[in-house]
Formats: sequence, structure tokens, C-alpha cells
Amino acid sequence: MKDIKEEIRQIVDTLNKYSYYYHVLDNPIVSDADYDKLYYHLVDLEKQTGIILPDSPTQRVGDVVMSGFKKQKHISPLYSLDKAQSFDELDDWLKKIKAEYKDVTFTVEYKFDGLQLAITYENGVLVQAVTRGNGLVGEDITAQVKTIRSVPLSIPFKGKVVVNGEGIMLLSELEKYNEKNDDMLKNARNAVAGSIRNLDPKVTASRKLDFFAYGVPYIENKEFDSQEELYQFLKDNKFLTNDFFVVTKDINKIHSVISEIDKTREELDILIDGIVIKVNEMNIRKELGFTIRFPKWAIAYKFAPLEVTSVIRNVLWQVGRTGKVTPLAVIDPVELAGATIRRATLNNYDDILRKQVGINALVFVRRSNEVIPEILGLAQKLDGFKEIEKPKVCPECGTALEDKGAYIYCPNTTNCPGQLKERIIHYCSRNAMNIEGIRDKTIDIFYDKLKVRTVADLYSLKPEELLELEKFKDKKSNNLITAIENSKKAQFSNFIFALGIANVGIKTARDLSKNFNSFEDLTKATVEELSAIRDIGEVVAKSIVEYFANSFNQQIIQRLFDAGVEIVYPDKQKMSGGVFAGKTFVLTGTLPTLSRDDATKLIEDNGGKVSSSVSKNTDYVLLGREPGSKYDKAIVLGIKIIEEDEFLSLLNV
Ligand code: NAD
Repeated sequence: MKDIKEEIRQIVDTLNKYSYYYHVLDNPIVSDADYDKLYYHLVDLEKQTGIILPDSPTQRVGDVVMSGFKKQKHISPLYSLDKAQSFDELDDWLKKIKAEYKDVTFTVEYKFDGLQLAITYENGVLVQAVTRGNGLVGEDITAQVKTIRSVPLSIPFKGKVVVNGEGIMLLSELEKYNEKNDDMLKNARNAVAGSIRNLDPKVTASRKLDFFAYGVPYIENKEFDSQEELYQFLKDNKFLTNDFFVVTKDINKIHSVISEIDKTREELDILIDGIVIKVNEMNIRKELGFTIRFPKWAIAYKFAPLEVTSVIRNVLWQVGRTGKVTPLAVIDPVELAGATIRRATLNNYDDILRKQVGINALVFVRRSNEVIPEILGLAQKLDGFKEIEKPKVCPECGTALEDKGAYIYCPNTTNCPGQLKERIIHYCSRNAMNIEGIRDKTIDIFYDKLKVRTVADLYSLKPEELLELEKFKDKKSNNLITAIENSKKAQFSNFIFALGIANVGIKTARDLSKNFNSFEDLTKATVEELSAIRDIGEVVAKSIVEYFANSFNQQIIQRLFDAGVEIVYPDKQKMSGGVFAGKTFVLTGTLPTLSRDDATKLIEDNGGKVSSSVSKNTDYVLLGREPGSKYDKAIVLGIKIIEEDEFLSLLNV
């Protein structure tokens, strides 16, 4: 027993230390995932032994009140949320409430990962804003909150009212900030906390924060029947509320909404770490009441973390198809959202300096919608910490590297094996010429054994040459030759993308294919003409012009055409007069036969547009299996919903 008591003491001390760094210094030294793991271990130990220390974090609402700010008692206490880590835990909670209140409905909202704020209005005017603090007392941050654009300074409601919600920083704003400033903000949650709890409101104003309102802990002379009504009140009073708001009785529906958001959350511009489910009816809430930490009428379903900590052990410098040399960190293997992560990107050398990371640094790693996870910043320097050195020569060909803006480049564009191979890999990729069966390893073999140096060389490969290679059996060789042959007929946009022009992704390639009648016209376009196209800026325009002006590139393109590559142009007439001309689509769920890319292409080729969110300007929602909140929103807004077969029949396919 003595040992376990000692263990509990140590865990409490450790968690309190982490909390101090997180809440007071706004500078966490471990990831939330690590904190939560230890926290739930403590919860278990406390349950098993009945030993609960008075300063245990399980006994209080998280935050610590910072001394630089005036302390302010809350008019009505603010709470944390109970957590469910799995559908089973969530269902236990839902079923228990359903058993007692059979007509209960639930609201499903985002769990914003920001800073909870309570804002008081009197006579329709904002008089005070306070952080959640320890739930009873918070920090007075009125001047700071007044700088947030989405917080109304005056509202139509004239009684005294406290509105609570989450201060957040949009991920796009965070990115913009970090591009322009040297004092990198580690992540959106940390950024918002640091920006609001800053004694200088001018700093808060410069950080472009937002506030999503979700509750009314106190209101004079008014009662709400439900969370739905409360939300409407917030909207009527000019507060920003999130469009994602589902009301349902159905447990399966709650599961499917959560699963859909989990799948698509990396595309959101808002950092969320879960979903909050609340009892909708206020009379039931009153009966359920509160514990010291959280309301019994709400629960947060936490997503698997997208952010963990790991240690950088090495940095590899990689040469890309445009000669850009970028650092890739080799980290201790770590589980992140269902995958084991061993590598993470560091963008460029400036990024390494700004993030102050090095070998043997404990760092935050985050999975974003990029394929390779990113290193966000330093948690702690460990024993044996070593600065990362900037390379002087190309790791692939030994040529002296050149600085261009924030990046370093290998200038050996025509002979560097790294660059040559990467260009071929890109050319074969799915959105490019889609040559199936060619992997990175295949290109290594072609390069070493068959002297394939450019994409044009692919078209001179002979079946007998392939057969001589180790591990290339008859069938595999034939398949490869057929795949290469089939790639000769290429859609205009795919061909443009396949060339691997710097800064030209598939979206830009599609935009270009729509704006030029022929490839030749594109090769002659000027920077002015190109920048006049919507969504194409000067940097991209310049890369395109430079690419076509380069004689090495011109030769390769000529060789491709000589080998029989042929561009298939989109039927412009069909596009402008297409069945979907002027129509906006939103896709949700998995379609039975079409991939998302295929459906998008069909819509665009027939004059339509694809948007990522449902609004009143949406014409069709194309519905697949396991649809999510977009489906609900389409129903609410009365948008036409079609399934794949109807979609194809509109196209006469
Ligand atoms: P929490 O932040 O996980 O959940 C409660 C909070 O959710 C509420 O206070 C509210 O601000 C917010 N919220 C978001 N959307 C909401 C909505 N729609 N309706 C109602 N509330 C909503 O819990 P907590 O008690 O504030 O803090 C614990 C968290 O802090 C944990 O996730 C933990 O990992 C993290 N933490 C991390 C460290 C560290 O060192 N990394 C240290 C301490 C705490």
C-alpha cells in the first residue's frame, strides 16, 4: 500500500507539473495524449485504492489562474467535460440516460480545442470576459476578448447574460502567422491560450482569433427549453456558432456522425479534439445536475490524438523533383491515429531553427492531411542534444547547394540522380500519367540497370530488357509495358501535372487545362496571362514560364510527343453547355463504384464545381455510404440529394 501511495503521489506531482507548463506557461512539455494516458492511469489507481490526494487533478477543473491578470469570480461556475474514449463508454452513458428519459434527444457538436471563455453582457453591452480558470475563478481578459472580431460588443438582448464558448485560432490563420513570424506558435490550442492570456491586447488583436459560442451558463429573466433554442438565441444575438450541430435520438446516428467527422477532421480549418454530446432538453439537464468537475448531461467523445511526442534521432536530407532539398526527421516509432510513424517532415532549415529542434530533442509530431506527419516544435531538449547541421552539398550528387529564399536547392537539374528519379516517380503517379505497377523501387532499378534518366526514356523500354532484370517475370514485364503504352493518351490536366512543374499541383493543372485551348498556347503564356487566371498567383505563374523556357524540359517534352504521347483535350463545349454547368456539388460518404477523384472529374468535365461544405448555394449533394454531417445539413437546407446511379443517369452514362 505504501508503494502505491508513493506512486500516486508521484503521478499527481507529475501531472500538476505538466498542467503548470500547459495552463500557466502556455508551453506544454508533453503531448495531450501522454498527459491523458497518465491522467487515466491515476483515475484507475484512485478507483482501485480509494486514495485521492487533495491536490489530485481529478478533483478540480483543469486550469490554474495566472497571477498577471485580475482574478474574477464566475457568476455561474464553468465546468470541464466527462470523457468517453470509445463507443462502448459513450453508449453506456447514452443508454443510462435513455433508460431514465425515453424521449430524450441529444445534440452533437464539435469539441473545439481552444480556450473556454465566459463573456458577460449587461444592457446589451459586453462588460466582462473571463477565462474558465479553475471553474470558479478565472482571469479577467476583457480587453483582450474585445479584440476578437467574432465577439459582438453589443447584442440585442438587454438582460444580464453570460455566454460561454471557445476562443480558437483558425488553422489557416495559424499557418499565416507562422509563415510571417519568427516566434512560432506550436499549435492552435496553444496559440489561442497564449494570445488571449497576453497582457498586451494589441498582441491578441494581431493574432486574428475567433470565438464559437455554445452555451449560456447564466441569463436573467429567460429560460430555454432546449440546447436548440439556446443556439438560436446565440445566433439571433449575433454570436458565431458552428454550422455543425446535429439533434437526434438515435445512438447509431451519433456513431455515424462521429465516424464521419473523425475521417474528415483533418480537412477542417478548426482544431477539434472530439465531439461533445449534450442532452438537448433543459428540464432533463436540471434533474441530472453536475459533479464537481463536469455536468452529468454532457460527455465528450475524444478522437485518437493527431498529436504525440517522440524523439528526433536523425535527419535525412532529401532531394525532390525540382531540386529542392528538404529535411526529413527520423523519429522513435510512435503510434499516431492508427499508424506507426517513423518519419516526420521539418520543411526547411529555417523551420529547424525556428522550432529549435535538434537530434535527441523530444518534439511534438502532428498528423495533418499531408501524407508525412509534421514536427510542430520542441517539447524538451534531452541528454545528448545536438544541433542539426545545414548540408553544404547535395546528398545525392555532391553538387554544392544553393540558397533560394527559405529553401536550399541542388542546381544540378539535368544530372542529379535524386531529382531525375523523383521526376519519373511523379510522372507515373495516379493524378499524373497513372502508370500502374511502377513503384519507387522500380524506378531505382530502371535507373541503375536500364539507364532510364528521363520520363521520355520510359517509352523506349523493351519487353526483353525488362525480362533480363531480376524479379521481372513475363507477366510483370508485359503489364508494365502495357501500362506505359496505355499512358500515351493523356488528359490535358494530367499531362500538365505529370511534367512536375514547381508549384503546380493537380488543382492548378486542372485550372490551366480549363483556361488554355492547347498545350502549345500554355507553353507560350506570359506571367501576366497566367496570373490573370483565378487562383494562380505570380509565384506559380513564374514557375510555369521558367519551366517552359528551359531547353532541357523542351527536349523532354518533344521526345514524349515523338514517342507517341497524345493529349486528350476536355470538350469545352460540353463543359460550358454541360449538364452540370453552373451547378455546385458536395460529396459525402463512400460511393459504390466511383472514387472521389473520378466523381470530381466527371462533375468538372461537365461544367460543374465541387465544394467541400454544404451551403444554400449547393445544388446537389452526392450521397455515398456512411454519410456524415453534410448529409444532415443538406436535409436541413433542403438541398437535392442524389445517389451514384441517379448521378450517372444525369450524365447518360
Ligand atoms: P477538455 O479541454 O478536454 O474538455 C473540456 C473543455 O471542452 C471545456 O472546458 C470547453 O472549453 C471545451 N469545449 C469544446 N467544445 C465544446 C462544446 N461544444 N461544448 C462544451 N464545451 C466544449 O478538458 P479540460 O479539463 O479543459 O482539460 C483537459 C485537457 O487538457 C486534456 O485534453 C489534457 O490532455 C489537456 N492537458 C494537457 C496537458 C499537457 O501537458 N499536455 C496538461 C494539462 C492538461
